[in-house]
Amino acid sequence: MPNHPATFLEINLDALKHNYHFFRNILNPGVKILAVVKAFAYGHEAVAVAKKLAELGVDYLAVAFVREAIPLRKAGVQTPILVLHPQVHEVKDCVAYNLEPNLYSFRILKDFIAYFKKESIQDFPVHLKINTGLNRLGFKVEDAESILDLIEEEQLINIKSVFSHLVASEDPAEKEFTQQQIADYQKVLDVFSKRGYGSFIKHMCNTSGTLNYPEAHFDMVRIGIGMYGYANETKWTNKLKNVGSLYSIISQIHEIQKGETVGYNRGFMANKKIRTATIPLGHADGIPRSWGQGANAFLINGKKALILGNVCMDMTMVDVTDIECKEGDQVILFDSQNDVIELAHNTQTISYEILTAISQRVPRIIKKDIP
Ligand SMILES: *Cc1c(COP(=O)(O)O)cnc(C)c1O
Repeated sequence: MPNHPATFLEINLDALKHNYHFFRNILNPGVKILAVVKAFAYGHEAVAVAKKLAELGVDYLAVAFVREAIPLRKAGVQTPILVLHPQVHEVKDCVAYNLEPNLYSFRILKDFIAYFKKESIQDFPVHLKINTGLNRLGFKVEDAESILDLIEEEQLINIKSVFSHLVASEDPAEKEFTQQQIADYQKVLDVFSKRGYGSFIKHMCNTSGTLNYPEAHFDMVRIGIGMYGYANETKWTNKLKNVGSLYSIISQIHEIQKGETVGYNRGFMANKKIRTATIPLGHADGIPRSWGQGANAFLINGKKALILGNVCMDMTMVDVTDIECKEGDQVILFDSQNDVIELAHNTQTISYEILTAISQRVPRIIKKDIP
């Protein structure tokens, strides 16, 4: 009996190291790397991934929410952490855990400054986000002067970076829009510079921005999906390695006679005698119901087993009529970039969604720990 769980997401930290070095090598010396480890490191394993990246010398980490950053600090990660989406009531935790908040609106900027004043905190590191077209979070381009007026009133914060985020960096058809975003961001930098602020870190590229717009690397790039092995183009993805692989086993095999059905709501009806395998992973584990009805397949002994009927909460049934297999055999949900890209493509989604959907019920195992 193997001494790992039947179902597990294998985390390959050597692949992470490979990807980190890939990005290091395409950047000019001096350009920093911020690794995005939000959403459990895109579903992988945030603490293990963050520790490995820290060991590799990553300059910054970023998470979306304060609650994602605290476990990293508790695990001893000392790398600066940018929190992309803090709330006003989280300023205390930012101070307690040395987390660097992104201040994205006048409301949060004022509240944080008021707290620093009340607590006599000086020089607290913060980041300012400029909205150049995504219309999600951030100050307007025209706000640059007013931001500085407000900051100069109290002089309690240390502007670690001013940054923006690209809308469609993966899409060549949106090149003009992207270039306008870069120009607008540059306008903001010019205002800051005229008023004597320029020593902060400038950054606006995510993974595909980094690959497609070398002219916009500025001082730092923010690599999320690329760190886990995926890029917007095959030529780039081929140079990366997937960090996560999802495995399970066949729990049970059934012979189904013509006219019998499989699963809830009789979602599949056999029009001939078939053989099915039950896999202990369902929609509560991150296998979406949209994969059902044959939309996607898993790999069993090198062959594709199509999903039959509806995905259940804890189980999925697949067709193994033409596959030589037995109960206890391994099932590969994905163990290559192509697998993930195909699963995503077949159900009109993207690798990001497949990876981050893998729920916390699925054990994560570091590859070296698997005998
Ligand atoms: C998530 C995120 C990233 C990472 O994007 P990828 O496309 O995964 O590289 C970068 N910057 C911001 C602001 C983000 O929210």
